[in-house]
Amino acid sequence: MKQKLSSSTPTLTFYGAAGTVTGSRYLLTTRNLRVLVDCGLFQGQRDLRSRNWQPFPEPAENIDAVFLTHAHLDHSGYLPALVKQGFTGPIHCTPATFDLCRILLMDAAKLQEEEAAFHNEHRTSRHEPALPLFTSEDAERALSQFSPVHNNRAEMGEVSVEYHSNGHILGSSCLDVQAEGRHVLFSGDLGRPHDLIMHAPEPPPYADYVVVESTYGDRLHDQRDLKAALADCVNETLRRGGQILIPAFAVGRAQAMIYLLHLLQQERLIPQIPIYLDSPMAISATELMIKYHDLHRLTPQQCHAMEDNVRYVRTVEQSMALNQMDVPCVIVSASGMATGGRVLYHLKRLLPDDRNTIILAGYQAAGTRGHRLLRGEEELKIHGYPYPVNARIENFDFLSAHADREELLRWLRKLPVAPKRCFVTHGERSAAEALADDIQGSLGWPATIAQLGSTVRL
Ligand SMILES: [Zn+2]
Repeated sequence: MKQKLSSSTPTLTFYGAAGTVTGSRYLLTTRNLRVLVDCGLFQGQRDLRSRNWQPFPEPAENIDAVFLTHAHLDHSGYLPALVKQGFTGPIHCTPATFDLCRILLMDAAKLQEEEAAFHNEHRTSRHEPALPLFTSEDAERALSQFSPVHNNRAEMGEVSVEYHSNGHILGSSCLDVQAEGRHVLFSGDLGRPHDLIMHAPEPPPYADYVVVESTYGDRLHDQRDLKAALADCVNETLRRGGQILIPAFAVGRAQAMIYLLHLLQQERLIPQIPIYLDSPMAISATELMIKYHDLHRLTPQQCHAMEDNVRYVRTVEQSMALNQMDVPCVIVSASGMATGGRVLYHLKRLLPDDRNTIILAGYQAAGTRGHRLLRGEEELKIHGYPYPVNARIENFDFLSAHADREELLRWLRKLPVAPKRCFVTHGERSAAEALADDIQGSLGWPATIAQLGSTVRL
């Protein structure tokens, strides 16, 4: 039996992405319904990841529906766990988000299963036996509950949701959630006005309350000429006789990197060395670029030209062979923060040699290997062993798919009227504080930094 809902609704509860960039989960409670906006995994430091193992704070069977802003796992990756705990409702998202979730959730389940099997075989876990957070079966069940939206609109009882494209990745949207006379706008991960591949975010619609991300809330992206900077970096590495490795998020950044490298070769700014994409997930996501060509700036011809220029590394054997090759090349591989995946094998080989370059092209959350490299640590632990960091580490986070401080403010400023309040989420403490100060200082709107587990009345 469902618990009785409070009469003083609607309310909004922050169950994740509060004081950190991952684990986006927001619960909206109305007179008759409990709906979640996003249902993400916590990633990064161990204490954050351990939150994934706690039962969801609301009984999963009491949640009526989930609405997703986009497919990245820190927004969708907890869905199989929620289903495992008894959630049976629909999951509403754009068709492209559904296609990407199919790729990402199945891969996440496989990784969980492999990790548990590894720990059981090597007896390296405190838990006997080690279990996956969720299985492929859980992921398949979650996928069967997906309900892609038509005309960018979804409805359930007194809650209706409009999806507005926000320029972050394929299918990503900010959500205008309307319930009991209130409009609550969730920015999702906000893209950038001049991204190479994605269209600029649509201007925000009317909102009484805004839940806004703050990944780069305290920073401005470097204004360097993108192509020139990347060309210099590649050419310098080749002069030293080294290789270039780019850890990249399989969905979004991997495609941006191979497209950018393709442009550099087309314009003869770098030599025609092979560009490898070593991530089956990134390959599948690249193939979706053609299916959804109306959702980004590239024509089908440009997508095909980009694909023709890159060498796909699909099988484990091919990846291992690539790892033995000491020839000039660029390797783009996942995961983007070097927390797992094939990129780790390339790092083990390339880090100790000072001729090589590692390019970090996206956000690196605290506690991840990518973040350690950024901080200039001299040694990196991979698969239990330390590797000396002699390769050059280059920070290209201005290639990030997240708006910076100015871009966030410029987007908010386009709201047709001032909202009653902004809730700042999805950022480390200092970034959230800086953005909240800016919203209050330069826009003159009340802003609150979301606290984990807190509930606000709307
Ligand atoms: Zn994202």
